[in-house]
Amino acid sequence: MQADWLRPLDVDRHADAGDSWEFKLPLTQLPRLAQELSSVEGTVECRVMLSRERGQPVAEVRVSARLPLRCQRCMRPVWLPVEADSKVWLVTDPARADDLDPGIEPTLAPEGRVVLRDLVEEEILLAVPLVPRHEGVADCGPGDFAFGDEPEVTKDDTITPFAGLGELLKRGR
Ligand SMILES: [Zn+2]
Repeated sequence: MQADWLRPLDVDRHADAGDSWEFKLPLTQLPRLAQELSSVEGTVECRVMLSRERGQPVAEVRVSARLPLRCQRCMRPVWLPVEADSKVWLVTDPARADDLDPGIEPTLAPEGRVVLRDLVEEEILLAVPLVPRHEGVADCGPGDFAFGDEPEVTKDDTITPFAGLGELLKRGR
């Protein structure tokens, strides 16, 4: 089907019909992701399929992309390949939430409508690390900071599970 990724779609109608859409979504169309990117050139290959399981509408969302994230250590691009395929429950009626299969992630479809772009963006955001970085310090470029500003590499840098927490708090998420 022709994909109008910004138009709210009638979930019940398309789930009954088993409709699916394949499209290339420009990165510029993903505002929530854009702030994590060092460039918005490029596209995401998307496939969204609507159907019903146990009477409830579900969407299978597949995305494939190579994203230029911004390394939080040197602020230069770090490429992340994203290949994701997951199923979400489109909750058109919150009162029926108890009928849902706990194994499937629910997402609200207010007024029985859903926007393809939002489903795709949610899927991609789940795949993006909170603090993207080049794998090792040696992989980082010189960055924008002046000579002498290089962050000191300590032993902690390699193993602390909360290494990104400070940056996370600063970003206010
Ligand atoms: Zn880096």
